[in-house]
Amino acid sequence: MIAAVATAPGRGGIGVVRISGTALLNLAEALCGLRPQPRFATLVTFRDALGQLLDQGILLYFPAPHSFTGEDVLELQGHGGPVVLHLLLQRCLELGARLAEPGEFTQRAFLNDKLDLAQAEAVADLIDASSAQAVRSALRSLSGEFSRLVHGLVDRLIDVRMLIEATLDFPDEEIEAENILRSANVEQRLLQLRSDLDVIHQRARQGSLLRNGLQVVLAGPPNVGKSSLLNCLAGEESAIVTEIAGTTRDAVRETIQIEGIPLHIIDTAGLRDTGDTVEKLGIARSWREIECADVILQLVDATSGVTIADEAIAAQFPAGVERLIVHNKCDLLGQQAFRSEESGYVHLHLSAKSGAGIDLLHTELLRVAGWQTHGEDVILARERHLQALATAGMHMECALDEISRLELCAEELRLAQQALAGITGEFSADDLLGAIFSRFCIGK
Ligand code: GDP
Repeated sequence: MIAAVATAPGRGGIGVVRISGTALLNLAEALCGLRPQPRFATLVTFRDALGQLLDQGILLYFPAPHSFTGEDVLELQGHGGPVVLHLLLQRCLELGARLAEPGEFTQRAFLNDKLDLAQAEAVADLIDASSAQAVRSALRSLSGEFSRLVHGLVDRLIDVRMLIEATLDFPDEEIEAENILRSANVEQRLLQLRSDLDVIHQRARQGSLLRNGLQVVLAGPPNVGKSSLLNCLAGEESAIVTEIAGTTRDAVRETIQIEGIPLHIIDTAGLRDTGDTVEKLGIARSWREIECADVILQLVDATSGVTIADEAIAAQFPAGVERLIVHNKCDLLGQQAFRSEESGYVHLHLSAKSGAGIDLLHTELLRVAGWQTHGEDVILARERHLQALATAGMHMECALDEISRLELCAEELRLAQQALAGITGEFSADDLLGAIFSRFCIGK
């Protein structure tokens, strides 16, 4: 029996303690003095071992197997104060529950076949989602859309494997085997499978962008308009600026969104010489982040163009990173915003003050990111999923190359299937499962 506070820490209107295990009616009776009706909201008083009042609230009871975890689940909805919830939780622990590990409720749901692995990961992604698009995408995965696509591929792979393996069983009747394979269009089916896999892989890559975003470095001398540009880029969407889980905010890093894609912007204005140890650490970290930037926005003053000082700044940046040159303050020249390409770089002439040309910058950033769709068919994939899809694609490719050597072809198809099945958890090692669920928050 496991228990945890399922609502976020802090104060709120209500707070929920969740318990999962077997035979929870006894616990409910000891805690509230009654045996709750399944799936009914019952107003109860929660009491301690001496019968003293702990809180008053709603008790919900979901008997196995019709619950989130597939076990008996109780939800105690009390008042949302940290001390009240702590007392309620303590009482559950006294009554035999133990504190749940992070992600343990979802892990139990997975082990009891309530969710597959891709869906379980979507629960965490939904909670961590940093944009409305990411929420929609995670919900689609949670409802099983991604899993269904993967299962569809696996089923078709199994069909082809069955055909090939069946012909392998008759080594003496080579001609007969060839005929079977030809009449069953095995090669065409494999080609179609590979191309469908490519489409799913592409959708997943877009989703990975939605999850992880783009690392953008803002560079330029003081007063060129870096802060103004940041504000302008953030626009109305900055109202829902969030931190991506696991990163700490520091003075030189901000996250904004364009079309739901998080842009992690590092402002080089913060990269100054300092004696402050903490600030130094932050700056060293920023340089490490700059090393893995996806794009550098180099701001120059439109009235002076690219100066020697600008060249010196550019020289400090890592080679090979995509760079956009932004000529800000084009309004001072009485110019319209425009885009041009010179010596291998895209130049954008715009005004952070009036907002003219910001749409060009949006488009350019999305192009650099490789964002091609407008949301609806994106799969919110993780690195693990991308790797599995890539591995499956590679084995399908090899299977096609080996189509005349059936044993090898069959083996490649088996490996492709294994890679795909890992996405939904049918072939996942225990340590992988541990790593996935331990990143959840407690109570989930
Ligand atoms: P930073 O030091 O690079 O962050 O520059 P700021 O964003 O603080 O801008 C410096 C000054 O330039 C401010 O007075 C801004 O109002 C002004 N500024 C910024 N962008 C523009 C622009 O596009 N046009 C004009 N005319 N002024 C701008």
